[in-house]
Amino acid sequence: MLDLQFEIDPITHFLVGLLNTPSPTGYHAEAIGYVETRFAALGIRGLALRRTPKGALVITWAGDQETAPRGLTAHIDTLGLMVKEIKSNGRLKLTMLGGYMWNAVEFEGVTIQTHDGAQYRGTVLPVKASVHIHRDAGDATRSADTMEVRVDARVSNADETRELGIEVGDFVFLDPRVEITDTGFVRSRHLDDKASVAAIYGAFRALHAAGARPAQTVTTVIANYEEVGHGASAGFPDNLSELVAVDMAAVGEGQNSDEFSVGICVKDAGGPYHAELTRKLRALAERAGIPYKPDIYPYYGSDGEAYWRAGGAAQVALIGPGVDASHAYERTHQDSLIHTAHLIARFLLS
Ligand SMILES: [Zn+2]
Repeated sequence: MLDLQFEIDPITHFLVGLLNTPSPTGYHAEAIGYVETRFAALGIRGLALRRTPKGALVITWAGDQETAPRGLTAHIDTLGLMVKEIKSNGRLKLTMLGGYMWNAVEFEGVTIQTHDGAQYRGTVLPVKASVHIHRDAGDATRSADTMEVRVDARVSNADETRELGIEVGDFVFLDPRVEITDTGFVRSRHLDDKASVAAIYGAFRALHAAGARPAQTVTTVIANYEEVGHGASAGFPDNLSELVAVDMAAVGEGQNSDEFSVGICVKDAGGPYHAELTRKLRALAERAGIPYKPDIYPYYGSDGEAYWRAGGAAQVALIGPGVDASHAYERTHQDSLIHTAHLIARFLLS
């Protein structure tokens, strides 16, 4: 078996840079540009990068053969917010990008990006934010109607907020709050799915360092609309044979997944993944001594299903790093990044 080295520092460095590049669904150019630059800098011969009109990045790596082309996908788009309304008190009413609990963004720092590129800082607050004023501050249901952004500017009415250049439809970025602990944990928002993009980066890096290339030509779609259900629905060749979607494994109560292995999803809300490809990935993991956890994700959909629903004919499976408290303040471990990168690499070599 080919010896592969997975260095955690470059993978982590790649991930931290990506986490700190805002990319809520619909706002992708900076993050796609970051990924494009970093993959190009690997200096891999036979690697071609292009962007689709929709803004996704398609990376093609020529393999030893093209008889059964393979695909990978992961997404850079994340949860976020958008200005729905400018309130009469100058604060901002919000609409969600992606699906999560309002509680998950309560008291989060945000950056408001105006349509002409200016940025303002602010905080997501419940309308009743102070316990010194509202006895029932903690009891009120959190919803679009009871949450608002307090902009860090001297504004007290809608006209003053509009004078800043803020308007309905402006993107609101959630602070990622990236932290790498000395125990190897990565704590941040948006590990879904930037951790998986970093794992693909790690796999490519390790294969390249070993002087290897994929057994079959592989097309990787770095998607930009996964959180709204149609990320990787396009971008693959028609004769694709196998597609491995790389997305977070759902860690939590009752789940088999953890933050220290690679998750292999057998079934999610969209039904079972392809049994043959799933079995093959488990066998590859066992042969290479990669710790993995088969699991079922109850309320979860992936770009593998988006590809199938769009008419894709390839076998599809789903693997990924374990992420705790997904779509909230997430956490994974560097071990999970390494094991995910390793399984991707073994799949490409197989
Ligand atoms: Zn995801």
